[in-house]
Amino acid sequence: MATHDAPALDVDAIREDFPILERKIGGDVTTPGPDEGDDTPLYYLDNAATSHTPKQVVEAMTEYYYQYNSNVHRGIHSLSQEASVAYEEAHDRAGEFIGTDKREEVVFTKNTTEAFNLIAYTWGLSQLEAGQNIVTTQMEHHASLVSWQQLCEKQGAEVRYVEIDDDGRLDMEDLRANVDDDTAMVSAVHVSNTLGTVNPVSEITDIAHEHGALSFIDGAQAVPTRPVDVKAIDADFYAFSGHKMLGPTGIGVLYGKEHLLEELPPFLVGGSMIRRVKFEGTTWEDLPWKFEAGTPPIAEAVGLTAAIDYLEDIGMEAVQRHEEKLAAYAYDRLSAFEDIEIYGPKTDRGGLVSFNLGGVHAHDLSSILDDHGVAVRAGDHCTQPLHDILDIPASTRASFYLYNTEAEIDELIDGVDTARKLFA
Ligand code: PLP
Repeated sequence: MATHDAPALDVDAIREDFPILERKIGGDVTTPGPDEGDDTPLYYLDNAATSHTPKQVVEAMTEYYYQYNSNVHRGIHSLSQEASVAYEEAHDRAGEFIGTDKREEVVFTKNTTEAFNLIAYTWGLSQLEAGQNIVTTQMEHHASLVSWQQLCEKQGAEVRYVEIDDDGRLDMEDLRANVDDDTAMVSAVHVSNTLGTVNPVSEITDIAHEHGALSFIDGAQAVPTRPVDVKAIDADFYAFSGHKMLGPTGIGVLYGKEHLLEELPPFLVGGSMIRRVKFEGTTWEDLPWKFEAGTPPIAEAVGLTAAIDYLEDIGMEAVQRHEEKLAAYAYDRLSAFEDIEIYGPKTDRGGLVSFNLGGVHAHDLSSILDDHGVAVRAGDHCTQPLHDILDIPASTRASFYLYNTEAEIDELIDGVDTARKLFA
């Protein structure tokens, strides 16, 4: 289904599933949770950092703890078998959600960051050679950028950063110019968490493959907000985090093509990831468990399945359409202020808008917005080199999800206007 044909979301009904959206704030923040001083409604526009969790996800995790909490893969007893079934189903559901039907290709990690570290340590230390290069972009999140930087320092390889143009889009000519036959990996973010830019990840992957290089796409902002098909992209590796897509913290996914994961050494070692341990040496479990050492995030996997069920019930085309509508609305309203600079492209963007209000530090603006109940991100959003290029110390980012409304963006605009007047 094309995104523009997708049905509009029933946001009122969706919001009923998220009790936290009823929260008021404004009182004591030194102890977690509501208190007597809380009197301001919450307008939560920090979804690119972490999204909220619907009742269905919390209930699925509660049922796990109340009814079949147990370790997986170890017990013959009933609870362990039930937990194992649920845990493996989570691999399958997460795989289907991004377009693979192979459980072997879906490795649970702690988050996107760990997925990058996993590949940097396993593939990088065993296969990247001195003199080779990794091509990535100026708009990468530190999760990928620092992983590649550290790896290349260790291996005597070079990291190349593809430039962005004045609109905040990737300069594809520069990408083509940087990828050569010494390129071992091309790594790009699918949707930039700062610029909102949606990168042409299939084309990027094709360019990598033309030169015999691998591709690793950072899907942390894409998988929660749009349909993703790793097979159509032909990515070799792809990563995302549960906590940005209505799921719990503590679980993420590394997708990798089976034959590539097969040939990599393990990342962390210990229990669960071994087939046979002898004093003389050890052999490894099959995929994906070879990369899942120790007790895995079982409750979190159950929660991730429930989050995927929730998103699929709504439909990812409809989620994307809603995101795009809110981003366009926020972009238009913010650009009505002459003293606001917005970063990233005007069109074809993900559901977030980063900006600066002339003369006001993002932290001050964010603090004033918090007084209005508006939760946004202020800082460098883990893209410091990108902020250096934009020549700004920080920015304010409003990011939207399926439960957000235009009325909440109006609250953001009111708060921004208050800050303008205050600092005028
Ligand atoms: N990549 C992108 C594009 C992100 O936006 C984020 C988080 O903000 C990450 C990677 C890291 O995600 P996590 O903190 O869940 O590892």
